[in-house]
Amino acid sequence: PVPPPGRTMYILPFSMGPLGSPLAKVGLQLTDSPYVAASMRIMTRVGPQTFPALARDDFVRCLHSVGRPLPLREPLVSQWPCDPPRTLVAHLPDQRRIVSFGSGYGGNSLLGKKCFALRIASRLARDEGWLAEHMLILGVTDPAGRKRYVAAAFPSACGKTNLAMMTPALPGWRVHCVGDDIAWMKFDAEGRLRAINPESGFFGVAPGTSVRTNPNAMLTIRSNTIFTNVGQTSDGGVYWEGIDQPLNPGTTLTSWLGQPWTPGDPQPCAHPNSRFCAPANQCPIMDPAWEDPEGVPIDAIIFGGRRPEGVPLVYEAFNWRHGVFVGSAMRSEATAAAEHTGRRLMHDPFAMRPFFGYNAGQYLAHWLAVGERQGARLPRIFHVNWFLRDGAGRFVWPGFGHNARVLAWICSRVAGEDNAKTTPVGLVPREDALDLGGLPGVSYADLFPVSRAFWEKEARELRRYYEENFGEDLPKEVMGELRALEERVKKM
Ligand code: GDP
Ligand code: MN
Repeated sequence: PVPPPGRTMYILPFSMGPLGSPLAKVGLQLTDSPYVAASMRIMTRVGPQTFPALARDDFVRCLHSVGRPLPLREPLVSQWPCDPPRTLVAHLPDQRRIVSFGSGYGGNSLLGKKCFALRIASRLARDEGWLAEHMLILGVTDPAGRKRYVAAAFPSACGKTNLAMMTPALPGWRVHCVGDDIAWMKFDAEGRLRAINPESGFFGVAPGTSVRTNPNAMLTIRSNTIFTNVGQTSDGGVYWEGIDQPLNPGTTLTSWLGQPWTPGDPQPCAHPNSRFCAPANQCPIMDPAWEDPEGVPIDAIIFGGRRPEGVPLVYEAFNWRHGVFVGSAMRSEATAAAEHTGRRLMHDPFAMRPFFGYNAGQYLAHWLAVGERQGARLPRIFHVNWFLRDGAGRFVWPGFGHNARVLAWICSRVAGEDNAKTTPVGLVPREDALDLGGLPGVSYADLFPVSRAFWEKEARELRRYYEENFGEDLPKEVMGELRALEERVKKM
């Protein structure tokens, strides 16, 4: 039979968040991409359980087209139907509507993720008094069995997925994963901040993922997984830079561009931003409460980014207001895996710069207001930096599973231990409070640089960033925190 003209449209009624959760929200996506339909079934909860919300007209409308009508007027590049020069994504928060044209890939086409769960949701969250954030959620259990949940905001390609699935290098400690990218958080009746992962899958960066760096991700992606822009092996497997797995004898490779590829070729085999898309429930360390409709109680919030110099491994904010300032002051070295090439320090407040659904100054005001909430039992706020480098450009911190050492100190602070010392920047672990045992060549001094010149420059650059990007909208409390930092640094 002759197929009808045009593309098949798919209708996807989906829930962001566990079914029946007071924090969940429903969306309806219309798309002409089978790739998007299949991916949405992994990343969101698609099904008839959403019908009551649809009937109530309580849902976000998502319209998507790859922008390449059939019959084609020109041949496709690499079989990808899309229209890059005319790609446009529109968000209409007042109408709870998203319209996306021309892209067939990632957050521009799987509209539940960045468009809905961050941009539209951040606006809903402000109106309704909760938080929609670019944060992973994990549970960490100490050797005595005491469990804490933390949420962490890092910009793209700064280690969210790795931290959320980490295998602790500290004996007796365990980490469980609730989510690796987005957190929706709301205070419960007892004043505790409770978080859900609105997603039901992982859309993770493939290159660098290996049995050594992220064994749990490798176990997660063994089946039911959609790979995009990775290399292929001639025996039906996938391949990327840093996969760290020997090829079967006689196997050949094809690059993400469909060309024959051999190790040592100048161009990478997989695109640096190639991805796996896998169901969360296949991850061996999903938290038992990861689908709890009430969410998990958050004890600590962590901010972080790639800072090659000057910013210590970890510090704690003095209080909530200072923590909001720390979040607003986030910067990170952007790499090829993120959206910018070359290495440049980019400001990325709360890791939300690409995802604010409304005025960023009002966003900071919303965070300050959360801290003023009557009866709120506020999480403590921290900043981490796994990416300090030495003079030769090598990382001074082993990272990955060893980040559990930092989580251990954070847990000790949540438990109220008196083991921090005050610096102009924030509270850092006392030298005996951070477990560096069995890490030859790693020194406390290297991990906790203290430099007046560095922080003077940092404060100067931050002041200019505020002036150019927030202007009048910057809450006076945040400017007050910057002034207080400048004063403390002056006395260093
Ligand atoms: P996400 O985009 O925030 O989820 O970041 P990923 O977890 O996908 O990690 C991005 C990149 O950072 C990968 O190449 C990781 O190997 C690397 N990475 C993650 N955690 C660490 C760490 O603790 N230390 C170092 N040096 N690199 C890390
Ligand atoms: Mn990730």
